[in-house]
Amino acid sequence: MYLRHQVGELFGVESNSIDELKGSPEFLQSMTDQTAVVRVFGWVGYFWWEFLQDLSDYKTIGICERLGCGSVLTGGHRDRRFCTKEENPECFRRRNADAQRRSRFNKETAPEPGHEA
Ligand SMILES: [Zn+2]
Repeated sequence: MYLRHQVGELFGVESNSIDELKGSPEFLQSMTDQTAVVRVFGWVGYFWWEFLQDLSDYKTIGICERLGCGSVLTGGHRDRRFCTKEENPECFRRRNADAQRRSRFNKETAPEPGHEA
C-alpha cells in the first residue's frame, strides 16, 4: 500500500489498487515519456559527478578534523570542523568522549583556588 501511494504521488495519480494505478492514463503516459538519465562510468566518474553537483549547489565541502576520522563533510556552516551526530554517530560519540576526558584531566591538574602560582 505504501509503495502504491508513493508511486501514485510521484506520477500524480490517485488509485485504490496497483491495477487501477497501472491502468490510469497519466501513469501510462509517464511510462512512455522520455526521461533524462545521467550516465556515470565507474566510481571515479561518480565522484566527479557528485563533486560537480556539490559545487553547482554551492555546498561547502570539508574533511572532519578528528584524528582517525577524515570523513567528507558537506553542507552546514562554512567553518564546520567535525561530523555531526547524524552524519557519523561513531565520530560524534568519540569526539564527545575525548572532550569529557580532557575536561576531567583539566579539573584534576588545575591548581586549587587560592594556590595559583
Ligand atoms: Zn568525523
